[in-house]
Amino acid sequence: MIIALYPGSFDPITNGHIDIATRASKIFDKTVIGIFATPEKNLMFSIDERVAMAQKAVAHLPKVVVKPYTNITVEFAKDIKAQVLVRGLRMIGDFEWEFEMAMMNQMLSPGLETVCFMASQEYQFLSASLMKEVASLGGNITKLVPKHVAVALKKKGIGKK
Ligand code: ADP
Repeated sequence: MIIALYPGSFDPITNGHIDIATRASKIFDKTVIGIFATPEKNLMFSIDERVAMAQKAVAHLPKVVVKPYTNITVEFAKDIKAQVLVRGLRMIGDFEWEFEMAMMNQMLSPGLETVCFMASQEYQFLSASLMKEVASLGGNITKLVPKHVAVALKKKGIGKK
């Protein structure tokens, strides 16, 4: 049984993240979306909000579950017995950072393999931060996030009234 951990901040989950989780779930027996509670980022949503939004977004995927975590990713991977780390690669910008992270995680936890999925064409330029910026300026984000996420953004005072 191969368990994959897809870690990230998911602030909030976007259609790009959901695409990666969906594709991972077709390959691995179980995919855990691990939501890191305290990344070095200015967060818009609390850990509970991020978990709830992600859970709703993948409720239709029986092999995908969502769990929050607070320790280092390789330790959380051990806790849940994951053998694989899943990451998404967008065309520009992600490679160097993901490569660095994969090498570091390989050193910290030999045997834990990083598997990168190439972002689908329609989500190549989608990041949670850019989506939030677009929403805050009143741009249309309906193709970028599930409906309940757009509603949650509106509740934070972000997005079209
Ligand atoms: P973001 O980069 O959107 O702030 P995270 O830090 O939560 O999101 O990223 C978690 C993982 O998801 C990373 O591997 C990141 O490269 C990947 N990812 C983020 N957005 C996309 C996307 N649009 N398509 C594919 N993978 C993505």
